[in-house]
Amino acid sequence: MINRQRLVDEFVSLVQVDSLTKKERAMADTLLKKLREMGYEPYEDETAAKIGGNAGNVVCHVKGSQEKPVLLLMAHMDTVVPGLSKKAIVEGDIIHSDGTTVLGGDDAAGIAVILETVKSLKEDNIQHGDIYVAFTVAEEGGLFGARNLDLSRIPADFAFILDDEGPIGTVAVKAPYYNRFKATFKGRAAHAGIEPERGLSAILLASKAIAQMPHFGRIDAESTSNIGIIGGGEARNIVCPSCTIEGEVRSIVEEKIERFTNEILDSFKKTAESLGGKVEIDLERMYPGYDIKETDEILKLLGKASELSGIPLHLHATGGGSDTNIINGKGIPAVDTSVGMEKVHSTEEFIRISNMEKACSFLTAIIKAAATYSR
Ligand SMILES: [Zn+2]
Repeated sequence: MINRQRLVDEFVSLVQVDSLTKKERAMADTLLKKLREMGYEPYEDETAAKIGGNAGNVVCHVKGSQEKPVLLLMAHMDTVVPGLSKKAIVEGDIIHSDGTTVLGGDDAAGIAVILETVKSLKEDNIQHGDIYVAFTVAEEGGLFGARNLDLSRIPADFAFILDDEGPIGTVAVKAPYYNRFKATFKGRAAHAGIEPERGLSAILLASKAIAQMPHFGRIDAESTSNIGIIGGGEARNIVCPSCTIEGEVRSIVEEKIERFTNEILDSFKKTAESLGGKVEIDLERMYPGYDIKETDEILKLLGKASELSGIPLHLHATGGGSDTNIINGKGIPAVDTSVGMEKVHSTEEFIRISNMEKACSFLTAIIKAAATYSR
């Protein structure tokens, strides 16, 4: 049985461990210790050195029947700022911070739900297949832990990332591909008062290029773009020789992100050249998107879990990225499921205990549903 008080105690103790991005050492140690106390042999991978952090991903194998599908359950260890010396205040069904920090339910709730579910599986003698638990580092701001997670050591058939908001049963089944770009417009410096005609303003190039962008903001239901940073110039009396803009393009459809990105960057080039300038472009695919179809096995499994638990599914598309993008990109079908966190990334963040409990029931149902399949 899911033990409500044990779940609350676990969550409260996890929240109070400092675990800012790339500084998850104390959290990794806490989880390694907890998992050993539960009778498992967890390991920490080599990610710390690769990303310049102080901890790696914590991975643990919970052995089960060989004939059943292998599941990967994931949550991230890091929390956003302000996130030092967090306190979890329990008031009735609600847990919140003291108002000076985030609560860090994003994603300590995911960790607490996984730990409580695994404990209750064992106590209730529930039949299941092999389960791998992975607590990742540095999800916030770059998905660095998941990128470096060695899946050759985790032979999972399906992955469930517990890191979404909304009513329990909410599942992100689509998320966008993400491109970021930096465009540096090159003009010519000159004295702005004596001979401006000898100069070519890079600020003018950049602003005309932005004004003529073929796509900006919401492109269609599946795609967006933005310019988020602009910078250049040294003095009012110098015709600016260099101006940089930084932006992004997202789309759930790969063909679209490629097309929209090319159209935007081509238009930058044309605009700069038509005015006698140049543009240097630096483009990077930060992470892949995913789009789980109704006919995909993982969705059928979720349907079965919904039947078993009586918790309705709310399938949705998210505009953001999570570890789920990386795991799908590495070839394991993965979805992001809600653990009930609310108002995340703010000091008003809170979570309902009843939702965390329900998230445990839903996860248990996923594990039971998977156990009805054979490999
Ligand atoms: Zn999160």
